Amino acid sequence: MAKEEMRCSFCGRPESETNILIAGIDAHICDRCVEQAFGIVEEDGEAKELESLAKDLLLKKPKEIRAFLDEYVIGQDQTKKVMSVAVYNHYKRLLQEANSEEGDVEIEKSNVLMVGQTGTGKTLVAKTIARMLNVPLAIVDATVLTEAGYVGEDVEGILTKLLQAADYDVDRAERGIIFIDEIDKIARKSDNPSITRDVSGEGVQQALLKLLEGSVVNVPPEGGRKHPNQKFIEVNTKNILFVAGGAFDGIERIISKRLNFQAVGYNATKENEKVDKTNLMQYIVPKDIKDYGLIPEIIGRLPVLTYMDPLDRETLRSILTEPKNALIKQYEKLFEMDHIKFTISEDALDYIVDKALEYKLGARGLRSLCEAILTDAMYELPSQDHVEELHVDREYTEQALNKNLLQKLQASV
Ligand code: ADP
Repeated sequence: MAKEEMRCSFCGRPESETNILIAGIDAHICDRCVEQAFGIVEEDGEAKELESLAKDLLLKKPKEIRAFLDEYVIGQDQTKKVMSVAVYNHYKRLLQEANSEEGDVEIEKSNVLMVGQTGTGKTLVAKTIARMLNVPLAIVDATVLTEAGYVGEDVEGILTKLLQAADYDVDRAERGIIFIDEIDKIARKSDNPSITRDVSGEGVQQALLKLLEGSVVNVPPEGGRKHPNQKFIEVNTKNILFVAGGAFDGIERIISKRLNFQAVGYNATKENEKVDKTNLMQYIVPKDIKDYGLIPEIIGRLPVLTYMDPLDRETLRSILTEPKNALIKQYEKLFEMDHIKFTISEDALDYIVDKALEYKLGARGLRSLCEAILTDAMYELPSQDHVEELHVDREYTEQALNKNLLQKLQASV
């Protein structure tokens, strides 16, 4: 009697129909079943990984997220609160997705739009959130984006940056954060009725929309069209959190017009009389953004709208010393590495803030001012023996600034 052909103990296929049949103690398994089993194990692993990640993240409630932001960002109460909730909900959504059952309510993404003058901390907020969540962050400038086929960067290039930030770990990238700066610069120019294509305006908005909506995009790993032979990597943008920021210069006029219109309209209320004219941004609503020139679809995909307060004297002063990595703390550390104790007087700090305000340098200017004050000391002191202390007072500050920076600034205004 011919020996019976061996079969896969899982699917029953005879050995002749398989590529390989692996023998166990009491059973056999064919290559197809191995593959299928591998798929099941991997899928389960991924689901569990996502679930545990989301659970980990959810350990931070909005108030804790806010507390973390407080360590790095001064002021901006409204944005901190709104961001904390948006991030919390975003990860709740991820968690739900990992456990979702048919018929479940689908939680939509909470992409954020931050409106506020440059240098008020928009990028800092996005960076701090990414740091807290330990997710990759890509910061991109909307002004360099153009429609595919034109000179400039394709919108897909944004995802290349995120992939790079995630060390090409696609799973990590797909849970990352993308900060799109200067989104206001791709607004449609309503006063430009040109029929030629609006390369940097609406076309880019349409291309961005695809990413914001959540889609699978073929991403060139190196970015751009300079490497025609490279293979594409598929990235699904469904779970990427998008945060867009822009100064929206002149939007106050739109806001004020709307507020005035309401004030004279029949629904004028006492509320309108209390409008704080010094900070109109706080009254911003999505319609103002639409009137500014962003297409409604984009605004709809950035449902969480928040504003940044302009930085006043008090805030600038706190930025110098209070955040966890405040400028002054960084200089203390730098000098400490040369065994020098660095101190700076209160009135010197006030003077720095005065100059930042006087020359409208904002928070970014604080850094240049400090550099101008301390460069000489940072150059000289490490080579001098027996210097153990550097105390900077107002006089030192004034002299150093006059020598190194203010004259240049004066010449430029
Ligand atoms: P934006 O993105 O709004 O143009 P950034 O976040 O890039 O501004 O801010 C520039 C720098 O100014 C930051 O790196 C940070 O050092 C400082 N800064 C701005 N706003 C704040 C703030 N509210 N709290 C702490 N530092 C700030």
